[in-house]
Amino acid sequence: MYDDNGIKNVEEVGAIAYKALAKAKEMAKPGAKLIDIAGAVEEFVKERGFLPAFPLNLSVNSEAAHYTPSMDDERALDEEDILKIDFGAAKDGFLSDCAVCVDFSGTHGNLIEGVEDALSAAISMIKAGVRTSDIGREIEKVITAKGGKPIKNLGGHGIERHNLHSDPFIPNFNDGSDAVLEEGMVVAVEPFATDGRGLVTEGSTCEIYQFAEEAGVRQQTARQLMAEIARSYRDEPFAVRWLAGTAQSKFSLYAAIQELVRAGVIEPHPTLVEIGNGFVAQAEAMVVVEKDGCRILTK
Ligand code: MN
Ligand code: MN
Repeated sequence: MYDDNGIKNVEEVGAIAYKALAKAKEMAKPGAKLIDIAGAVEEFVKERGFLPAFPLNLSVNSEAAHYTPSMDDERALDEEDILKIDFGAAKDGFLSDCAVCVDFSGTHGNLIEGVEDALSAAISMIKAGVRTSDIGREIEKVITAKGGKPIKNLGGHGIERHNLHSDPFIPNFNDGSDAVLEEGMVVAVEPFATDGRGLVTEGSTCEIYQFAEEAGVRQQTARQLMAEIARSYRDEPFAVRWLAGTAQSKFSLYAAIQELVRAGVIEPHPTLVEIGNGFVAQAEAMVVVEKDGCRILTK
């Protein structure tokens, strides 16, 4: 739980993340390169005295989450794409998390309306004592009414200082849990909708990692990389492209990353893709639970 000063801090990281999302949304146009958006938006929070809580996630089409551009990523947005922009800011261990979804052609409007309306419906029922499974039931109802399916193995979560994913889990369907929201909790609500099967699995790409612990590694580049990660990214997940200066080549950097994964120094957060290759929409906001309602912090 947060004290009054803690709430002020999460308000601050919430507000800056929301501004960063708006900037990303403004830059996200057909033809725009993902790496340019990521660089500009991550720089936007750094210039203002914050750090990214995690690399800017720019997940496209059947990617639901955790895609961030690689080093020298050439990927550009296409007219037909549906893009999830998910981001958070960090300061002194206080963290935020929010997301928006854009669809340039309007083809996936029903999925986007589904998650946006589900998020609004969830927020309007959140108050102390509400069961997470009742929130999930409402999210599924709204998404289904728009013709989509909720993604069942993704959902919202509590956010505590130094912990972006704490209890309680907030499902996107009625999972039967007895967990209830308590006054003073900060939670992220994140409905996902798809026209696929309603589940995600780990994809083949991974550009986001998190420091776990230092360990013995033999190879020199891997040792240098471990030192840099322990120094600069001890607390929050990082992108491989943030370490571009640490190795002589892209090949040696990715080889060193693999060695650190094998040694247990870092944990991978691979891209999550919809198992039926369906299109995916997401909306996400962070709120503080109050006695008779809730207050949105990512605004
Ligand atoms: Mn989240
Ligand atoms: Mn998020």
